[in-house]
Amino acid sequence: MQDPLDILHTTFGFSDFRGVQAQVVDRVMAGQHTLAVMPTGAGKSLCYQVPALARPGTALVISPLIALMHDQIRSAEGFGIRAASLTSADDNRQETLARFRAGELDLLYAAPERASSESFRNLIAQVPLALIAIDEAHCVSEWGHDFRPDYRLLRPLLDRFPGVPRLALTATADRQTREDILHQLGIPDEGLIVAGFDRPNIRYHIRPRDGLSGQLQTLLANQPGAGIVYAPTRAAAEKIAEQVGKMGRPTGVYHAGLDPGVRARAQAAFVQSEDMVMVATIAFGMGIDKPDVRFVAHAGLPKSIEAYYQETGRAGRDGDPSEAHLFWGAEDFSRARARVESEVPEDRRGGERQRLNAMGALVEAAGCRRAILLRHFGETPPESCGNCDNCLEPPQAVDATEIARKLLSA
Ligand code: ADP
Ligand code: MG
Repeated sequence: MQDPLDILHTTFGFSDFRGVQAQVVDRVMAGQHTLAVMPTGAGKSLCYQVPALARPGTALVISPLIALMHDQIRSAEGFGIRAASLTSADDNRQETLARFRAGELDLLYAAPERASSESFRNLIAQVPLALIAIDEAHCVSEWGHDFRPDYRLLRPLLDRFPGVPRLALTATADRQTREDILHQLGIPDEGLIVAGFDRPNIRYHIRPRDGLSGQLQTLLANQPGAGIVYAPTRAAAEKIAEQVGKMGRPTGVYHAGLDPGVRARAQAAFVQSEDMVMVATIAFGMGIDKPDVRFVAHAGLPKSIEAYYQETGRAGRDGDPSEAHLFWGAEDFSRARARVESEVPEDRRGGERQRLNAMGALVEAAGCRRAILLRHFGETPPESCGNCDNCLEPPQAVDATEIARKLLSA
């Protein structure tokens, strides 16, 4: 085995592990099963990439989306790591299999539906495994916000290789979901490692929509750098992109209704750009590695605090000051409630109502926004963060001092 820190320096060119990365890597190096709950941008990939190189054998990485796998492979190859995927979108299957069998891959990516098949288990048994990473591990839990039944079928694969360390990774898991992931994937309780969720460099602003186009214009006038504007629907994304396009910034639009080639070009342009505004539905963002996104704006209500946190978390991964702006309207809530009642299966409605209520509490709060976010993820926040709209300009405190002044002067 090689020294993980050497690999961090030589392969990645990074000087130190960040936050809990060292703790996670240590466990995997020691062959222990682990669940790492780390916010977006915290560097989850490195937690399996480094042990994949340091331990003998190939690392198997389970990932839910082909696009996500391909992004990861591109990024790994950028560091000189040998990586490939076996998916329906890969036509170099024979080549990948040959490389895998010859022990010439550091990372092999596969989706859960493939990885759970018996033929895949037999294939994997042909070479030594360094570890099995399960990315986006919240997909294994019905409590999670993105349940994927295929994740449940991974257990026989894991159990076939009991001595191979499992590393489950997720950005968004509340307590119930974490417990479920541990249970479903056979990871002991002491294998849970949770990173701090605070993103101190992100300044949160939340206010009612009041002429969105004007609000965006003011925002862009004061906010240099690349940013994302999330629109609630494809049609809204098109319309807002047209408005933003007239505000003097390079503008892109991205949603699932566009041709894949067009989407890929828009995404590539955004990643390169220092001042582009990408107007998009939530189809945009997963797996995009752009450290210098300076702001994320929501033109409508996100569907949950998890979604809000994850989407705003795409800002400021480089640690520099960044902004999150949410513009909401009462009609967002009535529309979301109506959708829950008409489209969500009855047994899930309670959970969805709870998620909406939590969003309601966040947007209507007079106190620290960050405190609400952190408490939601089980952390004990300071009373006031000094870096959200309500802390910088307390809505009630202003009135209170005003009243106090009047009382004193009377
Ligand atoms: P996550 O999957 O947790 O959202 P990523 O694995 O995509 O995060 O990593 C986010 C960014 O941080 C990447 O650009 C990655 O190269 C960088 N990064 C990760 N770990 C470190 C580190 N220890 N030092 C410097 N940069 C790091
Ligand atoms: Mg990731």
